[in-house]
Amino acid sequence: MRIITRISEMHALADSIRNEGRTIGFVPTMGFLHEGHLSLMRQARQECEVAAVSIFVNPTQFGPAEDFDRYPHDEDGDRRKCESAGIDVLFIPKATEMYPSKPTVFVTVERISDILEGAIRPGHFRGVVTVVSKLFNIVKPHKAFLGQKDYQQCAVIKRMVTGLNMDVEVVVLPTVRERDGLAMSSRNSYLNPEERRAAAVIPRALSSAEQLVKAGVNEPEKVKNKVLAVLREERGIVIDYVELVDQESLEPLASMQENAVILVAVRFGQTRLIDNYVL
Ligand code: AMP
Repeated sequence: MRIITRISEMHALADSIRNEGRTIGFVPTMGFLHEGHLSLMRQARQECEVAAVSIFVNPTQFGPAEDFDRYPHDEDGDRRKCESAGIDVLFIPKATEMYPSKPTVFVTVERISDILEGAIRPGHFRGVVTVVSKLFNIVKPHKAFLGQKDYQQCAVIKRMVTGLNMDVEVVVLPTVRERDGLAMSSRNSYLNPEERRAAAVIPRALSSAEQLVKAGVNEPEKVKNKVLAVLREERGIVIDYVELVDQESLEPLASMQENAVILVAVRFGQTRLIDNYVL
């Protein structure tokens, strides 16, 4: 596995791979890798001739009161995991390499960046979209592999790719879960044992919605209220939002329709967790 910290070196390698007619599959991450990341890496490995991963905790997507300074990291462990997943290239730049000076160039996707996660984390998606477009320009992938766990992020990045005519295919893969259904996340490491136990209410609430819909309930409000009721069974939970929205536009649904997704964001103590269920 080749480890690259410089943009110029990554550019040169990406060019030479492309000149040889080989395809590049890319998995952008913030590190502290888990099975969710590994499933994306294995798919990149399978679908493309060269599999590349980036690890970069991007300062511009964190708000001032968020967890940038304490975001978990394990560089040695991550390197071993990438190697054992058959990754060919690990791009792991320093913040000064990605942002040599205070950034003045940003990429924004309007509307769907401003609702849900974007409403609670102003500027978050501007940071995400900017860094992902930089990473796409640096790694020059043919395909990028993203996790459905971050549903809105996938929707925003797809809009960016379409809107800017980027020659990258976005592949979205299913959420990998713990045994009790909790979506894997680097941030799960923040949870204390009691919070970790309680967090299993999130997948329980989502599957209660699934059951309701399967039983024929088709008012979004009823489905949403059921999810809220199950979540509230755990004292100590703070619910940021539960919304039933259109899978593409992420606009609220007036009536139940086929292309619906439920998006959930909650907090346990200092830890914010998101999840979703595609109906
Ligand atoms: P992160 O390191 O949290 O920025 O995530 C990097 C990529 O891994 C993103 O595309 C995430 O959506 C994806 N990812 C994170 N958690 C999971 C999971 N539990 N299952 C599948 N993909 C995931």
